[in-house]
Amino acid sequence: MALVTIGAFARQARLTPKALRLYDEMGLLRPAAVDAETGYRFYEPSQLRRAHLIAELRRIGMPLAEIAGVCALEPAAAAEAVTAFWRRVTADTAARARLTSLLVADLTRGTTTMPDSDFRFAAATDPGRGRDTNEDAAYAGPHLLAVADGTRGPGGAQAAAAALQAVRALDPATASGPDLLTLLAGAVTEADRAIRALATGAQGQPVTTLTALLRQGTRMALVHVGDSRAYLLRNGELTQLTQDHTWVRTQVDQGKLTPAEAVGHPERALLARALGWGPEGEADLGLRTAVPGDRYLLCSDGLSAVVAAEALHRTLAGAAGPEQAVADLIALAHSAGAPDNIAVAVADV
Ligand code: MN
Repeated sequence: MALVTIGAFARQARLTPKALRLYDEMGLLRPAAVDAETGYRFYEPSQLRRAHLIAELRRIGMPLAEIAGVCALEPAAAAEAVTAFWRRVTADTAARARLTSLLVADLTRGTTTMPDSDFRFAAATDPGRGRDTNEDAAYAGPHLLAVADGTRGPGGAQAAAAALQAVRALDPATASGPDLLTLLAGAVTEADRAIRALATGAQGQPVTTLTALLRQGTRMALVHVGDSRAYLLRNGELTQLTQDHTWVRTQVDQGKLTPAEAVGHPERALLARALGWGPEGEADLGLRTAVPGDRYLLCSDGLSAVVAAEALHRTLAGAAGPEQAVADLIALAHSAGAPDNIAVAVADV
């Protein structure tokens, strides 16, 4: 087959010679021949197919290293790899969109003050019906709401208590907006270390979830690790502020499970992240601005995993104040069998 020069090949492939040289260096598309004296690259027309594939993958933003992997696959496997790449891109974009909207809301509203008397709060835990021990912990104060769900078994309750103790040290908070997040991140690192120190060889490593809202004026800093949840009831609408760090959630994001399959999955409680476990306690952090009328709910999976979203919404919205909301939500979990410990914290702005 006749070879063509790099210039002619580049025109046919709608790529620049510079890009072709890069793809050669990366091992993505080797020229059919290289002139030993001049170093000129020559290509076979049959290599156009590969060149087009690379160009298309570049157009969807796939990194070169990943393109190399796709090029090495059979077409069916390559199609799967491209689909998986795109799911990841859309999941990342959705996560960044959420962070962006939080940031924009925060920048446009700025800091405003709120008297402490405008923040009313309550918290409680309940062992539930299925368990004789309680490894859940909850706290509510003028500047902090927090829930933690420690693993069942020895050390679980201590792990949850250690997590709450680390964030309680920040109440009352005196720092301003961005510093709130630094403080929270520091507290989480501290909690993570304290929980790792609880480890006892024979009994294994206790771990805990932690979801906490730290308030300064109308700024609300949120920290979250695990499958406890934070919700916001605003203008009658209930929004989940956190994403579960569970294995099933990861499978749903990757398109391997449907949301419906995740709900009833036997491994639905398997955590993808927790304090005291994994590489370093990696927490989600976010900053929000409270608006008068807001009602915040933090709860462990002993509530959110056993009651339907509509029932949770109705009960939370129907309560006259935080104390009643906490009591009603625990009663709601009981009416659903309460197979797990329940932790609930509610605050009204
Ligand atoms: Mn639980």
